[in-house]
Amino acid sequence: APKSYDVVVVGSGGAGLAAAIQAHDEGASVLIVEKMPTIGGNTIKASAGMNAAETRFQRVKGIQDSKELFYAETLKGGGNKNNPELLQRFVENAPEAIEWLARRGIMLNDITTTGGMSIDRTHRPRDGSAVGGYLISGLVRNVNKRGIDVMLDTEVDEILFDGGEVRGVRLLTDEKEVITVQAKSVVVATGGFSANSQMVVKYRPDLEGFVTTNHKGATGGGIALLERIGANTVDMGEIQIHLTVEQNTSYLISESIRGGGAILVNQQGERFYNEMSTRDKVSAAIIALPEHYAYIVFDEHVRAKNRAADEYIAKGLVTSASSPRELAATLGLGEDAFLATLERYNGFVSKQHDDDYGRTTALRAPINEGPFHAIRIAPGVHHTMGGVTVNTRTEVLNARQQVIPGAFAAGEVVGGIHGGNRIGGNAVADIIIFGTLAGHQAAVRGKC
Ligand code: ADP
Repeated sequence: APKSYDVVVVGSGGAGLAAAIQAHDEGASVLIVEKMPTIGGNTIKASAGMNAAETRFQRVKGIQDSKELFYAETLKGGGNKNNPELLQRFVENAPEAIEWLARRGIMLNDITTTGGMSIDRTHRPRDGSAVGGYLISGLVRNVNKRGIDVMLDTEVDEILFDGGEVRGVRLLTDEKEVITVQAKSVVVATGGFSANSQMVVKYRPDLEGFVTTNHKGATGGGIALLERIGANTVDMGEIQIHLTVEQNTSYLISESIRGGGAILVNQQGERFYNEMSTRDKVSAAIIALPEHYAYIVFDEHVRAKNRAADEYIAKGLVTSASSPRELAATLGLGEDAFLATLERYNGFVSKQHDDDYGRTTALRAPINEGPFHAIRIAPGVHHTMGGVTVNTRTEVLNARQQVIPGAFAAGEVVGGIHGGNRIGGNAVADIIIFGTLAGHQAAVRGKC
């Protein structure tokens, strides 16, 4: 491989692949470097979908939505801590990001919702399958078609910086070979640090001992790389726990199951919170239960509409029974309480009003079609909202808000967009929106 490229992309998750494809399509020569043996990063595990408002696919389905509402709900969900300029750019570019994917054969034209959103704006594959695998395979297809160079099992262990600008990267292969690659632009798309428990606990001592939903490579090394060339960080203590994690396997149960109509019950068989509230609030409610776990309960109707549910069944995570009473008996729930919970909830569905917990979304259908299913879940570390600071052109900023020439960052490595709590479906939107933008900016600089 040549030792000089216009653009080096560090990380092969959604942000890195989108950046690489965009930079290539603008005429840049591009190298993707990935430290793990496989492509796809944590993105491949993404489940719910990609949020966007005012898209063609929403219009086709007659869904009325607005960018203003998407902005307001994301800001509210983030506890008003989101960086307003980044969030504005995010909301503005979201529909085009959906089209960017569609033009490359990646169609997210089925639409659902996630906690904290009042409108169906979570775009996912038509068959209702998890977004991550579909997205990564589509992006990889595009990378391969273009002949973009990819190095796996190779870590970027230094960004070369000289004379006030980025000059390239130093690579370390799994055979401990050191390679220097020159580039005017480096896109850091290395993801978050949820799998680095030491780093998590450093910022959040209360998360000691929590499992994580993330892949092993989510160690936050990219943040350190950029800090060494002067990057500033923001919101490092804003770490999201996801509430529906199966604890034996650390398997994330997609928010689309609740979005499809599932409820949460405690060991007594009772609902205890609005299931469609934001992740931080529902997680806190589960941690506050004496047993610190809950069950996500759904019926055959929800299962049939969610391919993900079949995956959970195949993996042995689901307890199923032909009747609610049998399900309650198997799980040791209060049987009468559980039956009363279902009857009461089904009543809320028919009148479209939740008297108990004020759930206003995904009151889709009564839970009354057997078999009935349940998965025992508890929170796990899921997303790190903090990271390096960037401007709306994805240029990395130092502590004085100055651009570090040649350094671009996109995806979970960046802090600020999601504030204090990331809404489900906003991570995939983030990586495509800012990944493509980083690819564009990096190509413009890298080619000159
Ligand atoms: P995003 O969702 O922001 O795209 P992902 O977690 O999906 O982030 O992908 C980030 C990728 O970057 C992962 O595959 C991870 O293994 C890789 N990575 C992290 N640090 C490095 C590094 N120093 N060198 C090369 N690859 C890295």
